[in-house]
Amino acid sequence: MIKHDAVPPPEFHYPIEEWRWVEKTFAPQFLPPAETIFTVANGYLGMRGAFEEGEPAYRHGTYVNGFHETWPIPYGERAFGFATTGQTIVNLPDGKLIRLYVDDEPFDLSSARIRRFERALDMRAGTLDRQVLWETADGRQLLVESRRLVSFHEKHVAAIQYRVTVLNARASLVLVSELVNHVPAPEGGEDDPRLARSLSHQVLAPQGSVTADRRVLLRYLTRNSQMGLACGMDHTLETECVSSFKSDAEENGARVVFHVDADPGKPITLTKYITYHTSRSDKTDELCERAGRTLDRVVGHGFGQLLTDQRAYLDDFWKRSDIQISAQHPRAQQCVRWNLFQLIQASGRADNTGIAAKGLTSQTYDGHYFWDMEMYILPFLIYTAPRLARNVLEFRYSILDKARERARAVSQKGALFSWRTINGEEASAYYAAGTAQYHINAAIAHAIVQYVDVTGDKDFLYEYGAEMLVETARLWYDLGFFSERKEGRFCIDRVTGPDEYTTVVNNNTYTNLMARENLRSAADAVDQLREGSPDLFRALVRQTGLEPGEAAEWRRAADRMYIPFDERLGIHPQDDEFLDLKKWDFANIPADKYPLLLYFHPLVIYRHQVIKQADVVLAMFLLGDEFSPEQKKRNFDYYDEVTTGDSSLSACIQSIVAFEIGYDELALRYLINALLMDLGDVSGNVKDGCHIASMGGTWMGAVYGFAGMRDRGGKLSFRPAKLMRELRFHLTVRGQLLAVDIKPDGVTYKLEQGDGLTIHHRGEPLKLRPGEPVRRP
Ligand code: BGC
Repeated sequence: MIKHDAVPPPEFHYPIEEWRWVEKTFAPQFLPPAETIFTVANGYLGMRGAFEEGEPAYRHGTYVNGFHETWPIPYGERAFGFATTGQTIVNLPDGKLIRLYVDDEPFDLSSARIRRFERALDMRAGTLDRQVLWETADGRQLLVESRRLVSFHEKHVAAIQYRVTVLNARASLVLVSELVNHVPAPEGGEDDPRLARSLSHQVLAPQGSVTADRRVLLRYLTRNSQMGLACGMDHTLETECVSSFKSDAEENGARVVFHVDADPGKPITLTKYITYHTSRSDKTDELCERAGRTLDRVVGHGFGQLLTDQRAYLDDFWKRSDIQISAQHPRAQQCVRWNLFQLIQASGRADNTGIAAKGLTSQTYDGHYFWDMEMYILPFLIYTAPRLARNVLEFRYSILDKARERARAVSQKGALFSWRTINGEEASAYYAAGTAQYHINAAIAHAIVQYVDVTGDKDFLYEYGAEMLVETARLWYDLGFFSERKEGRFCIDRVTGPDEYTTVVNNNTYTNLMARENLRSAADAVDQLREGSPDLFRALVRQTGLEPGEAAEWRRAADRMYIPFDERLGIHPQDDEFLDLKKWDFANIPADKYPLLLYFHPLVIYRHQVIKQADVVLAMFLLGDEFSPEQKKRNFDYYDEVTTGDSSLSACIQSIVAFEIGYDELALRYLINALLMDLGDVSGNVKDGCHIASMGGTWMGAVYGFAGMRDRGGKLSFRPAKLMRELRFHLTVRGQLLAVDIKPDGVTYKLEQGDGLTIHHRGEPLKLRPGEPVRRP
């Protein structure tokens, strides 16, 4: 259900612009969410949008994807197989700081007299730009302009151009450029499981520094996980005014201080280049050299080159990934682009890592990777940037051995991917809503099959995918059993489905359906390899110890899979017991008691028919062929009433299914909620980071929901919603570029690159040839 419709932020503060997210006034109350919203990141490195001057700030944050500290998980009562080691992404030394002093008075936005203010995230340029006209108490006016970027081209690099012009007088300026370790601020209440662990020890142990001219490099080692970090900064100063500088470094930070005698009207431009290099093991000396080389290169090429490369990268991104909507909805257009931009900021250079639930916008959820990656982000990447999708799946493959170990730890065969992790090990301390979500295995299997179907990248399947399919299928076969009490059906007990408000249940419909798909895909991959590539098949047997007859057993389990169905209501119960539970008292629980997880003991929640997020409804989207149209409608009606949407992973899925069953108005409202999850602060916690899954979900809502695309078995079909709206987007399918243009009076499909593609429009096959658009009313 929709408890309240999302509203975009006020226009006087955040005006509408197609390609920029703009803030027009400095308003302290918007500061915490704005730090998230103005994050710049490239998938490897992320910087929250706090100001260069350091204050005022809610939470400074600089993160490198996957760079984490470990800590022993404290349990009052431990049991066998519980996760032992927590992992938390580290907040790195802050390199964005440039403090400005005028005649020794600091420039602080919270107390300064501001004549003009504008801050904008430019989504084509990939920069965060700010312009402030500041008037000092004695009437001097200073124009302070900054432009910040985290480079997509140079993934280890962030850079800031900071320009100060005293407009009407002379002044003594000091610019203090810093690279400092902030004293860690506690993340917040222990009662909110979503926030990051506050590490009590100082995570980064200093290993020395190098200072040369305007450059400083610092080395650190994380205390427990022993990961190495080298970070550094270098500068250029352009000005006609008289200037001098001094550099120094100590254990927890470094600074380069510039003194300038500013003349009126003469700009002073400080360009700061910052770099972060990390390693999974202690190779800090080499890291320092690498950081130095990076700085040599980018300082040599200059800020202009970084801007040019950034623009080129993003031009290519937008060409493949933009979603254009009707010119009558410029605010929606702006929000859509901001969402898409966050997706590339979270994934662009996530070369050998996963994509965290919050991207690189905060430490929330400890920087962990969940099933969000495969289920919510991967569809977007598969269809717009297949190489990035492959990177994610290769990352999964890199932790397959950890998944094998995890399966052993919970006494199962095959592999069990950790519910939340950075390094592959399970980091969820609450098994009921963690390890019990075995369905993550099926999400990965589903993504592998989808990736291979859409891209045609069989090499991936043979080299990595088949092995993951085999090991995940094995887990299911070992986990379930043929139950005599259920006529020999294959049952899977004591698991948690996507809905975390009902845990450790028997025969979760979603899980059983997805496990069935996983078992069949694994058996298909084995058969394909055996028949088509005997050498690769032998390699697979070597890697997995595959026994003859195993695949046939998986098929048998899949064919006999028990799928709960309630004849009386004509719906699929979420699990064996769900319909026996008491209904949640929606009418009398006030709105401020949501999300329920913050206000009720889990047992209270578990005992009711109340859902955190789409579960059966998600299955109806992913495995639509398993449900009749009537079942879809009845299931949707039933579950929509009991779904709180306390998870940001829900609205987008409810939107897609609502579109499919013809509830267009409701679908659109859900889609808008997904779209505004962060910009409209639907969950009230955007200050603690973006909901990246919901952004992927927004793309899915447009493409699978509004355009009605389905892609089962690689067959691409469209059934655009009847609602009068416009939508235009591109999809990359087996290397070909397809443009889909939906208008109120018809749809046009055009192959912009490639040599031929068959798609289906409302059941009719259309053979597309390059450059020959096909239109259907
Ligand atoms: C959701 C999970 C999700 C996680 C990270 C939780 O609130 O219930 O499905 O994976 O957030 O986004």
